[in-house]
Amino acid sequence: MRKYLVYVALLVLSVISGSLLQSITSIVQLCYHKHKLEKSLFQRSENAVKKYDSVRRRSLFKPLKLSTNTYNDDILVVENENENVPDRENATLLMLVRNFELPGALKSMRSLEDRFNKDYHYDWVFLNDVPFSMEFIEATTAMASGKTYYSLIPSKDWDRPDWIDEKKFEDRLQLLHDKGVLYGSSKSYRNMCRFNSGFFYKQKILESYDYYFRVEPDVEYFCDFPYDPFKVMKKNNKKYGFVISLHEYEDTITSLWDAVDEYIEENSRDIDMERNSYDFITNSDIIGKFSPIVDSNSDYNLCHFWSNFEIGDLNFFRSERYNRYFDFLDSKGGFYYERWGDAPVHSIGVSLLLNRDEIIHFDELGYYHAPFGTCPGAYYLRLQQRCQCDAHAQSNIDISPNSCLMRWWKYGDGKRFVKYEQ
Ligand code: GDP
Ligand code: MN
Repeated sequence: MRKYLVYVALLVLSVISGSLLQSITSIVQLCYHKHKLEKSLFQRSENAVKKYDSVRRRSLFKPLKLSTNTYNDDILVVENENENVPDRENATLLMLVRNFELPGALKSMRSLEDRFNKDYHYDWVFLNDVPFSMEFIEATTAMASGKTYYSLIPSKDWDRPDWIDEKKFEDRLQLLHDKGVLYGSSKSYRNMCRFNSGFFYKQKILESYDYYFRVEPDVEYFCDFPYDPFKVMKKNNKKYGFVISLHEYEDTITSLWDAVDEYIEENSRDIDMERNSYDFITNSDIIGKFSPIVDSNSDYNLCHFWSNFEIGDLNFFRSERYNRYFDFLDSKGGFYYERWGDAPVHSIGVSLLLNRDEIIHFDELGYYHAPFGTCPGAYYLRLQQRCQCDAHAQSNIDISPNSCLMRWWKYGDGKRFVKYEQ
């Protein structure tokens, strides 16, 4: 009996040790493969880092300013006047915004700080037609990496002027409302569009700056900025920068082009037809395989730069010629009797008054403002700049026939493949 027990024990032992050996072998094999795999993955990630880190310029990154919810302002002071902040231009980030839009304002700031301003600490200027709340001031100051300034827009720069015929105004509001035009019946929207067309650059708080970068609540910047756009503007003598160009709703600007026509007639000395972008806003030939999907009743092809993103030279907007243009349009009352937007007004203004090569399309800066976005088309550029966007998405306006980008390439300043000098 004992003998059998020994045999059984031996048998069990041999089975166990066999599988043990097998297990050990497979563990060793697994470790080896894992090591090999890790090594190749490691190698690949190391290669990627080598390839992209120089572009990302991590060495320039500085720790972010601390934010606080205390009332002790000292904590909010930016200790950044050090040698590591790159040279800056005389410029500011600019947001016209309402108190209730604070969450959206913070979202846009967070995005622009992360993608650009954390390396530069440009000032932020906030404008409002009513005083900013303390909550708004504290939260935006905490979010900014640069200094923050807040200003109340004087009523004369914002409110409806008294020469506007109130009866006609109310009738026209109703008309646009009945037509189903976006913001057709909004009075404040009209103040906003007129302010952005002809008054923002007259605000005292902007007097000391040369450039502004307009930011709106609830927008997103999809990619790391590969350069300081202000520097690119300055070095290359650019006066107006955009990222998206598309067609305007004609119902909002029924008589705008008639006014522009009249303005051109009377102010030809301000306009250089040889060098400006007149063709970009008037040509409506078919380009490529896209036909124009937007019919226009005037010579204006409805192309405009989307002004919720714009980087501009304040000295241009402050110039006599721009103000002659704005005052002429303003005198027609179309900001109130129709719903002229600051986007077509700026766009027609810069297209007439600037040289083509003074306008720049920033095609490396991904951007989103509902319902459209723009995402760089180049795969490696998207990797280098850590873009978070789908270049093939339906919301990418650049690949839709509603975009005017191809027209800009053909009749504006062309398409540039080489980066501007910075
Ligand atoms: P949309 O982009 O044309 O749909 O218009 P928005 O509602 O985004 O307005 C454009 C910009 O003007 C945004 O920065 C808004 O915060 C701002 N805005 C619009 N209306 C007012 C207003 O009545 N007061 C203030 N202070 N800002 C406004
Ligand atoms: Mn907006």
